[in-house]
Amino acid sequence: MKSQSRLLLTLGCMLVLFLPGCVLTNHPVGKAAIGKACSSAEMERLIDQPGPIELETINSADWSVSLAGILNLNNPAAVQAGVTDRDEPVQIYAHMLKHPQYGNFLVDTGVSSKLVNDPGKEGLNWMIQKAMHIEKLHINKSTGEILQGIKLSGVFLSHLHLDHIAGMPDIANDVPLYIGASESSHTSFKHMFVQGATDQLLKDKQPLQEWSFQPDSQNRFEGIVDVFEDGSLFAISVSSHTAGSTAFLIRTTRGPVLLSGDTCITRWGWEHTVEPGDFTEDNARNLQNLKRLKDLVARHPEIEVRLGHQP
Ligand SMILES: [Zn+2]
Repeated sequence: MKSQSRLLLTLGCMLVLFLPGCVLTNHPVGKAAIGKACSSAEMERLIDQPGPIELETINSADWSVSLAGILNLNNPAAVQAGVTDRDEPVQIYAHMLKHPQYGNFLVDTGVSSKLVNDPGKEGLNWMIQKAMHIEKLHINKSTGEILQGIKLSGVFLSHLHLDHIAGMPDIANDVPLYIGASESSHTSFKHMFVQGATDQLLKDKQPLQEWSFQPDSQNRFEGIVDVFEDGSLFAISVSSHTAGSTAFLIRTTRGPVLLSGDTCITRWGWEHTVEPGDFTEDNARNLQNLKRLKDLVARHPEIEVRLGHQP
């Protein structure tokens, strides 16, 4: 009996030791073939001038999630305002970018109707379906509909959470995919639950291409990449919601637009400078990166902000 419990204890310890060693996905990953690192000064010199990109943000699906997941209710500002947990309406976006020279790109993927109609087949096991409350997800315009008649040159992912790659079943296998540094290779205990689904959604797709960020000489951001090397689209490293979370600053024909990704998910969170809650990996760093994005907008009030999941 004694040796049995010792064996269980040893197995338990081994489990705890090995659990944190789980990467988000086993999908192949390499360095991005496009983009060059730039400084915030170089980016900010350009961003108030209209650019060449046509941008359309599409509300692919309506959904609702626990507010505690998408807003840190323990943040002093939320405590002071007396915000409590509730079911909160959110939207799942796909952002369509049309560049006159380089083609059509998505930032994040919206939702494929295949995923909603047969989630098990697309890799979402019953546990994930239950945790995600897939029954609360209602498609307005599926990724397939969004892409009708459009040839994609690439997909830029703000991060790899399932609600951001839910359109993958409708993305052709030859489309290049870009992500933030360490997004796929960072290890966490939480990844154990979603690794299978993430792998399945990326199955047969192109290898993930990671941005090569360099420290910003002005120290305003963790790193910036000039994606097309023409100053029209900037990927900004905001790691903390996930290890490789990325925001995008786009010089559109109508002026600058910031896609915050899930560094800020809610309208209330942006207005009160409160970062996401349980769904975020590192709250302190997430809050710091949210402040950096807000400071950028304060320096350039022309910027239109589009948040992770609310208008
Ligand atoms: Zn999200």
